[in-house]
Amino acid sequence: MGRIGRNIACGIFAAIAMTGIAAAQEAKQASLSPRLQAFRDIYKELVEINTTDSVGDTVRAAEAMAARLRAGGFPADDVKVLSSGPRKGNMVARLRGTGAKKPILLIAHLDVVEARREDWAFDPFVLQEVDGFFRGRGTADDKAMAASFVANLIEYVKEGFKPDRDIILALTADEELSDSPHDGARWLLENHRALIEAELAINEGGGGTLRDGKPVRNSLQLAEKIYQTYRLEVTDPGGHSASGRRDSAIYRLSEGLVRLSRFDFPVRLNAVTRGYFERVLTTEQGQVAEAIRALLAGNQHEGALEPLTSRPPYNAQIRTTCVTTLLEAGHAENALPQTARATVNCRVLPDQSVDEVAATLARVLNDQKIKVTPVGKPVLSPPSPLNPDVMAAVESISGEMWPGVPVIPTMSGGYTDSRWLRNAGIPSYGVSGLFSDPGKSGVHGLNEQVGVKELYDSKEFLYRLVKRLAGPAAK
Ligand SMILES: [Zn+2]
Repeated sequence: MGRIGRNIACGIFAAIAMTGIAAAQEAKQASLSPRLQAFRDIYKELVEINTTDSVGDTVRAAEAMAARLRAGGFPADDVKVLSSGPRKGNMVARLRGTGAKKPILLIAHLDVVEARREDWAFDPFVLQEVDGFFRGRGTADDKAMAASFVANLIEYVKEGFKPDRDIILALTADEELSDSPHDGARWLLENHRALIEAELAINEGGGGTLRDGKPVRNSLQLAEKIYQTYRLEVTDPGGHSASGRRDSAIYRLSEGLVRLSRFDFPVRLNAVTRGYFERVLTTEQGQVAEAIRALLAGNQHEGALEPLTSRPPYNAQIRTTCVTTLLEAGHAENALPQTARATVNCRVLPDQSVDEVAATLARVLNDQKIKVTPVGKPVLSPPSPLNPDVMAAVESISGEMWPGVPVIPTMSGGYTDSRWLRNAGIPSYGVSGLFSDPGKSGVHGLNEQVGVKELYDSKEFLYRLVKRLAGPAAK
């Protein structure tokens, strides 16, 4: 189907086309197993509840998922909806085990990034199944995991599964907002810690990579970079623009920014990224493989590492990066600027000090007049240890489902709610078994989608993984 237009005539056409899609969906649904049908219903309900910050409602989504769990056999007292404010809801449910081991926490966020109907090729809040893909906002991030956890917990209850430990599910608000007091993971830790206290957590942040439609790696996220923004400012007495003075705030700042644009932070590996490259090496060839070998051997030579540093996803794994994102200067067309400001956003390696980054920025800008000030306090997030039980379970189930595809420990360039959990001493593992083609998922962007088969496989992967980690020891 082509891109659907915005005028009314096209709207009517779209409505007719939708009826056709709906009919095709009916046909597909008839062939699903009862387990997958139940999962699909939960997923559809969740995707179709708008949970954006602007007009959406995570309380509604939390209540809908709570209702599903209660209808699926959970005692009402073991399913709680907790709201931190209007339209900000979290759900915490507990499947009770024998108590032999400390609980495991499953966490997924309910909120989604804004999605404007007029910018998308289809309605972001109507789940569509087209050409082997589910389309809609949140179909991948993060309602795939949220719906999988809910459906799987209901299956465990139906089977009478009695784990060695409680399995806690937390579905949360405001993960997508960088510093929200309503961030569900943060808010639950601060206000209802006992409800989610666990030995370890399973969260988003991992996932599988498809290349030409085939799985090549399954990642297990153990670390995240630190997010830190700096404000750069040059002030000057200014004056009349007719003076033609060259030494202005704008030029001083610009020259500093040009120096920054040419600067690279040093290459630096940590335990997670070293493990990452050791395993990625088995999936790469030619120049890239050569460069990875050089990197692991401690070769810091720019030319040797170029095949990695020229690829942003690899470059982000080996160094702190800082980019200028905003500029603001001057106050009148006919006046010399009194201030010039820039915003520089850095993604700092988790074992590097944020103060050290500020000092490096000042050194590279190399101008006493450019004042560097951190914006806000960073959320430090220590990497989680490579827990052998988690690794063994992930590797063994991944091997059953995707033979020959390596499991790779990763550090994310962005953040997830694992930062709050890791800070609170709950080791967190980003793993979903949800495979996608990098750059084609539309996550955070337009026309988000996820492969139907990939989604069903991910749900099955999580079903087996959580069961294995919660025990009792299964075959
Ligand atoms: Zn997410």
